[in-house]
Amino acid sequence: MDIAVIGSNMVDLISYITRMPEEGETIEAPDFALGCGGKGANQAVAASRLGSEVLMVTRVGDDLFAANTVRNFELNGIDTTFVLPTPGTSGVAPIFVDEQSRNSIIIVKGANGALSPDDVEAAAAEIARCSLIVLQLEIPLATVNAAIELGSRAGVPVLLNPAPATEGLDYERVALCEYFVPNETELAILTGLPTSTLEEVSIAARSLVERGCRNGIVTLGSKGVLLVDAEGEELIAQTTAVEAVDTTGAGDAFIGCFAHEITHATPLRDALVRANAYAAHSVTGRGTQSSYATADEFSAWVE
Ligand code: ATP
Repeated sequence: MDIAVIGSNMVDLISYITRMPEEGETIEAPDFALGCGGKGANQAVAASRLGSEVLMVTRVGDDLFAANTVRNFELNGIDTTFVLPTPGTSGVAPIFVDEQSRNSIIIVKGANGALSPDDVEAAAAEIARCSLIVLQLEIPLATVNAAIELGSRAGVPVLLNPAPATEGLDYERVALCEYFVPNETELAILTGLPTSTLEEVSIAARSLVERGCRNGIVTLGSKGVLLVDAEGEELIAQTTAVEAVDTTGAGDAFIGCFAHEITHATPLRDALVRANAYAAHSVTGRGTQSSYATADEFSAWVE
């Protein structure tokens, strides 16, 4: 296995709307789609579609969504040995996307809230054989911490995507991660610093590096990504201008591709350029996983 993704899966319930409803208002959405999502699952699918061997450690409910989620992992070639059933609802995410491609998302964690440090321990032997552990914050923080500690113990580098931003993230554990990948909003919430300008993003990211973070990688939407490490910083701008149709899941596309590249010996900066391009491609299509290209589709688009 190349990558162990220890994280969430959600069922995306996406309403395409003309504008956001006011409080107490009912509006009609011209279109609707049901998709497989969740940050962990999205990142796993992107990496697997690009050709990585991916082990998914996650929990599904005992409802009508669970079988569909497992089938989706299988269709995408992901190892489901540790896709574990749990009583109750699966994770679901009602999403609203307006005509300007702005999105609002509500997350019901469901079974994702039951993914425990014991589950990580049960999969420890398989996780330790991977080249990278990928984590987000849609599962309990204790489980994320257990996975970071396992990575340290087993010598497997860890990528932590601190999304959605969660109180109580421990900077000592962040320092154990090889790659720390927030967006601007998550960086602001975590550091308590403003991130409205590139200069502010740089100051906030540098504060993380000063606390021991090795590679701070801040995603900046259409502007690309800022890499901050002990040596300095570099803006890796988007090289391809695209017309954004739906930016939902762009961050996960970025991370899935970055994880794939890093585990296939691509140098760090080149991996960031590739991940930028892959995420840019994803915003040209509707939905989350449905907008993630396979290796062949991505190669054809890049050329
Ligand atoms: P989301 O929560 O929608 O998944 P995010 O807020 O976590 O996304 P962003 O920083 O918005 O993450 O985007 C992640 C990456 O996706 C960016 O670094 C960039 O590579 C790409 N991207 C996002 N929006 C655009 C866009 N409009 N045009 C080109 N690339 C984009």
